[in-house]
Amino acid sequence: MTVTRFAPSPTGYLHIGGARTALFSYLYAKGRGGKFLLRIEDTDRERSTQEAVDAIFEGMAWLGLAGDNAEPIYQTQRFGRYAEVIRQMLDEGTAYHCYASKEELDALRAEQQARKEKPRYDGRWRPEAGKTLPSPPAGVKPVVRFRSPNEGSVVLKDLIKGEIVFAAEELDDLIIARSDGTPTYNFCVVVDDMDMGITHVIRGDDHVNNTPRQMQILQALGAIPPAYAHVSMILGADGAKLSKRHGALGVIEYRAMGFMPEALLNYLVRLGWSHGDQELFTREEMLAKFDFDHVSASPARFDMEKAFWVNHQYLKIADPAVIAPEFDWHLRRLNLDPANGPALTAVIEQQRERCRTLAEMAEKSAFFYAELSGYNEKDAAKHLTPKSAPVLAALIEGLSAAEWEPDSLHAAVHGVAEKLRLKLGDVAQPIRVAIAGMAVSPPIDQTLALLGRERSLARLRAAAVKAGA
Ligand code: GLU
Repeated sequence: MTVTRFAPSPTGYLHIGGARTALFSYLYAKGRGGKFLLRIEDTDRERSTQEAVDAIFEGMAWLGLAGDNAEPIYQTQRFGRYAEVIRQMLDEGTAYHCYASKEELDALRAEQQARKEKPRYDGRWRPEAGKTLPSPPAGVKPVVRFRSPNEGSVVLKDLIKGEIVFAAEELDDLIIARSDGTPTYNFCVVVDDMDMGITHVIRGDDHVNNTPRQMQILQALGAIPPAYAHVSMILGADGAKLSKRHGALGVIEYRAMGFMPEALLNYLVRLGWSHGDQELFTREEMLAKFDFDHVSASPARFDMEKAFWVNHQYLKIADPAVIAPEFDWHLRRLNLDPANGPALTAVIEQQRERCRTLAEMAEKSAFFYAELSGYNEKDAAKHLTPKSAPVLAALIEGLSAAEWEPDSLHAAVHGVAEKLRLKLGDVAQPIRVAIAGMAVSPPIDQTLALLGRERSLARLRAAAVKAGA
């Protein structure tokens, strides 16, 4: 069974790059009937925070990428297990104590640099057949180093980058436990991936150089290393490193901007992966089609305009009932009560052509859910003038007599335009400003129908007073 994991370090919010890595891991496992697990890599206690853990969960939940493990794995809860494996490796001779002091190692590095060599541990405490080790200095707490194979090579068959060969002699003996006994990063990852039964490690390509060491340690533990897929980084649209300016924001900020989670996922899956020239995918399609054969090894470019385009396509075609809970969230964010107005699904159907985001939709729909706090000044100056007062009066009369449903309202508005020999716009625009507070709204008959008879007529009367004043 395919088992993948997402292993964020909780040192910040869940950003867009992390979300894409999580999505790839999720799709790869779930698309193959496997498991997608969540692990919190919180061993860096100084930089890890509970707020960051919460932000990661919130982002993952919003995207619908929850892990299959009911409780995520926290590395800080596994120190006992790491100590056990270190003990086992010491016993088996695949790890050893190293007593070299910081001063000694600094001096070693300086010598190597003077000789223009790559700094590396020289194996002075590494046990070898026939070698006599110095006696451990008194009072020094040793670190534990991995006794890495120093012959041959490590071959990484990366599912995205292809084959990468690392010469074993380039890989010196990594510290797996510090002198205070705490395990180091690469070691924890190895033990976790082994214990969690991970079959595919999918992560950012900033980890490529950790991989040969992790593979060696896994082999020393008698485990078969998983397959690896290192995902290339995301650049800004201009090719520079992704920054806030380009959209390197937290996932939850995309929620605030008005993205639907499915649309953001759709945009993210296309950052590096392609399936012919298809741009829009449902979650089911992503699950069925995602693979690493079509993930590009070169960096993807983040394009905010395209992200908005995808979101708009999604808003236009999705079932309004699926959009409604998210629209509800946005209305509440504007301190509006979604119960104090028309059904959300009906408003979504009328607004979705013209709104690229739900934030925009909520703003443009506020007038359905709260009394007007005023009029857009420019629109009122143009459409609520003494000249429009008789138009509004005629409308109040005509609409009062109409049945309150789109067809009759349509006929009534047209009737007023004909009677006063006005163009339809000259009648519709004052209505818009009167009932929506601004000169933009969905089709006027639909807007009137949704807003309801009482509210519409009351607003038209208030506007008539303003226009006549
Ligand atoms: N915790 C690492 C990170 O956030 C991921 C390590 C891994 O996936 O192996 O970059």
